[in-house]
Amino acid sequence: MADTAPPTDADPTLAELLATHPHLQTDPTCGLVFEGVALNAIADAVGTPCWVMGAGTLRHRLRRMQAAMQAAGLNVGIHYAVKANDHTAVLSLIGEEGHGADIVSGGELARTQRAGIAAGRVVFSGVGKTDAELEQAISLGVGQINVESAEELAIISAIASRLGRTAKVALRVNPDVDAKTHAKITTGLAANKFGIPFADAAALYAHAASLPGVQPVGFATHIGSQILTAAPYRAAYARVATLVRSVRDSGLSVEVVDCGGGLGISYRTEAEGQPEALAGAIRAELGDLGVRLAIEPGRWLAGPAGVLLSSVILRKEQGMAAPFLVLDSAMNELLRPSMYDAWHGILPLAPQAFSQPTELAHVVGPVCESGDTFARDRLLPRLERGARVAILDTGAYGSVMSSTYNSRPLAAQVLVEDGRWKVIRHRQTVEELWQDETMPSHLAGHA
Ligand SMILES: *Cc1c(COP(=O)(O)O)cnc(C)c1O
Repeated sequence: MADTAPPTDADPTLAELLATHPHLQTDPTCGLVFEGVALNAIADAVGTPCWVMGAGTLRHRLRRMQAAMQAAGLNVGIHYAVKANDHTAVLSLIGEEGHGADIVSGGELARTQRAGIAAGRVVFSGVGKTDAELEQAISLGVGQINVESAEELAIISAIASRLGRTAKVALRVNPDVDAKTHAKITTGLAANKFGIPFADAAALYAHAASLPGVQPVGFATHIGSQILTAAPYRAAYARVATLVRSVRDSGLSVEVVDCGGGLGISYRTEAEGQPEALAGAIRAELGDLGVRLAIEPGRWLAGPAGVLLSSVILRKEQGMAAPFLVLDSAMNELLRPSMYDAWHGILPLAPQAFSQPTELAHVVGPVCESGDTFARDRLLPRLERGARVAILDTGAYGSVMSSTYNSRPLAAQVLVEDGRWKVIRHRQTVEELWQDETMPSHLAGHA
């Protein structure tokens, strides 16, 4: 990260971060408040590191997304991308709000079932589904399987036929458009591993119609993540619309277009992706096709609904240079900064912190990797050992990417709703780190 060019625009101030995160407020006596709950109270009771998810924010964003689609005159099914945050409480909330799920593994499918989301409202995506996962999905009757290759189509046909079932499939096409996002999260370029090449899609659809055990119902596309403007969506949907028309001209029926996910959020100073702009792109390119529409948002729904609470283990001064603030959370909790050079807002929890003078600091974790860095040259009030911070916008691709690297137990998780909070995952104990390990008998004597 030290090698990347410094940003040309300035970081948002603490006040600006508060303004763009309306579910966070400062209170003169209890400090940073999240959906009406003092984050210090949670940290006092549960300790840090601790993920806090705001059910109110999640519900608000779900409803705003749905309202944007309705205002555009579109009937769009929302299939939440489970991989963004797969906690069963989050999935139960999604189901309770009336929405479905987009999954990429048998484990995620099992989670949706545990959370009470009807299998018919689940779409199975992903570039490599095992036979066992396909059997599980077809037996449960998932609503749709998004097929990513000719090879996979043949496998699904064989498995469904053997089970005496008919699997509804959509072909995920790779529209070869540049989502202009980070290389590790762009998926709609011909060079990426995802989807069926655009030029092959119509022929494969016709082939699918001739196969036993599968019923082709339409097309799906998903071009990447953290997309902030409508233009890449429009380009992708225009190509899909062409495909739908030409396949229909050949006499086949197309009932569904799955528009994928990827709408971005404001981590730093970028303007958040607008559901209204996404709705506009869908309506402009696909609105008059008479197909059932669906979207698969993950990050946009869950990202801003979560914060990661951490404490400063120590302040490592280095002469005149900016100090290192070593947190008790690390890349094993939040991987995004080391994996994608991601910028996350950091706010102090203490009530007096917002009025104090600021200094430049590097915010790092204790893991033995230089990449274990949350922020470099960040303007923060002077934070001493024991001070607490909230790392913002960590509700998506946060806890789900956690590992126990350096034998660091998984952090606790809390859900806030209606001014109350509940632990939704206890902090993993050290003993739980090795409880699934077994000892070969010839080594047992040493344990
Ligand atoms: C990851 C993924 C999504 C969700 O992406 P977000 O950027 O979180 O909205 C949706 N659909 C598919 C197929 C995905 O792989």
